[in-house]
Amino acid sequence: MSNQNIWVFFELSDGRPKKVCLEMMQKAKALAEGCSGKAAAVIIDPEPEEACKAAFENGADQVLIVRQKFFFESAAYILEKLAEKYSPTIILIGATTEGRDLAASASARLHCGIASECTDVVITGSGVFWIRPSYDGRLNTNIGIEESPMIGTFKPGIFKLEDPSAGRSGETIEEAIEVPAGVLLTQLLGFTPDDELTKANIEDAEIIVAGGRGVGSREGFGQLYELAAALGGSVGASRAAVDEGWIAKDYQIGITGKTVSPRLYIGFGISGALPHVNGIKEADIIVAVNTDPNAPIFGVANYGIVADLNVICPALTKKVREMKG
Ligand SMILES: Cc1cc2nc3c(=O)[nH]c(=O)nc-3n(C[C@H](O)[C@H](O)[C@H](O)COP(=O)(O)OP(=O)(O)OC[C@H]3O[C@@H](n4cnc5c(N)ncnc54)[C@H](O)[C@@H]3O)c2cc1C
Repeated sequence: MSNQNIWVFFELSDGRPKKVCLEMMQKAKALAEGCSGKAAAVIIDPEPEEACKAAFENGADQVLIVRQKFFFESAAYILEKLAEKYSPTIILIGATTEGRDLAASASARLHCGIASECTDVVITGSGVFWIRPSYDGRLNTNIGIEESPMIGTFKPGIFKLEDPSAGRSGETIEEAIEVPAGVLLTQLLGFTPDDELTKANIEDAEIIVAGGRGVGSREGFGQLYELAAALGGSVGASRAAVDEGWIAKDYQIGITGKTVSPRLYIGFGISGALPHVNGIKEADIIVAVNTDPNAPIFGVANYGIVADLNVICPALTKKVREMKG
């Protein structure tokens, strides 16, 4: 395939692009280079400047700007009009709360195929293939969509974010697209941030202290919060710990939770089942603490400690605090 244009939808928060958009932008650049195409960012925001700069520095050749407030219903309409005019091959959208709504609405508007929550996308001589886990992550499915445009969503942390190219620039195209009355069926009256959710921003955490069923109780997680605080990191969890009600679902790591890419992940009392391990593959260093020497997590860990987490976790916290003075 040649001359394919790869778009990334940029989701902004206070004018700043979400990290997942930058990750997808770098991926789009690599894809576009492989097929002599162009990588472009689509930004729908009244103040797109910061995001526009970030898009170029992370690989965009072009940035399409529509100066309007983002709402997924109107954004889907705008994306439809832009796609009709510029005919992209691929549109990448973050699998975030708003991104999921947008991707579904845009695919319905464009009557196009969508592959959700993928772990990769490749362009070969015979087409575009979307890779996504199935059967609890035991199998990777290749999904081929034949017609363009096609939409793929990616969770944060799937693509490793490399350093941006400072000062890199490109072509900016501004479009004024009038959204007709009737498209926007929802009225946004206000926004109340959920403090718990904000704290659970584990996708961007550099250090994650994760707990599983082996932690034993909600109270048992207390020692993990202490270690995470001492290290300046966040707490995460396996689905088993979430299902037990010891920690909120927003902290769940894995195929049905969040994909994380910290510099350091320490897993306490986590067996290492595939659905969990799929969410930590991009971690630079994995440390596992488990009483069972045969726990599968040791197969992916850089450092393994066969011991009781109730001994290791407080000892680590003490040591970190001592070292930090
Ligand atoms: C469709 C589907 C999607 C799923 N999605 C996810 C997902 O997104 N994320 C996820 O995590 N799981 C997911 N799961 C569940 C997954 O298959 C596992 O069941 C789960 O990850 C197990 O969690 P765990 O390792 O905490 O618990 P367990 O497998 O029960 O492991 C507990 C571990 O703790 C160790 N242990 C016990 N006591 C101690 C101690 N005192 N000190 C040290 N170690 C101790 C044990 O040796 C054991 O290895 C999914 C499953 C399905 C079917």
